[in-house]
Amino acid sequence: MNVQLIGFCNMSTQNIGAELYFVGKRYGHLTSNIAESLNSWILEAREMPILAMLERIREQLMTWFSNRRQLEANTQGILVSKIATKLQTLVNTRARKYRYMQATESLYEVKSKETLHDYIVNLEDRTCSCREWQSNGYPCGHALAVILGHQEDV
Ligand SMILES: [Zn+2]
Repeated sequence: MNVQLIGFCNMSTQNIGAELYFVGKRYGHLTSNIAESLNSWILEAREMPILAMLERIREQLMTWFSNRRQLEANTQGILVSKIATKLQTLVNTRARKYRYMQATESLYEVKSKETLHDYIVNLEDRTCSCREWQSNGYPCGHALAVILGHQEDV
């Protein structure tokens, strides 16, 4: 097989569509078909002449941004309400049930009495061995247990 073709295949696997190789944070979203969502959102506008279509999309975007701003207007703090609610739920349902021990300055072992599993939380690297923190971009229940215990701003 051609060496250049092998290189292309490796590059395309890592850069297109393979969730395993996605390097960004998903913040709890697993949307893989954004083009379909956009197409359905502008369905009516797509049938219009080009200038009218662009004007309609501009108006839709203005409305969308305005609605989002109003949704977050009453949110306190720096987190959007959806993530703040998720974190508060994790604190209430999971984080207070864990015990942890400090191994180094930023490394902790978190023990779950319910599952009898141990998890390794690294506050400096913002990682947990359950991989939720790395995947979602916000702390998992294990990390929240440590953060709450130390009242640190991570
Ligand atoms: Zn975790």
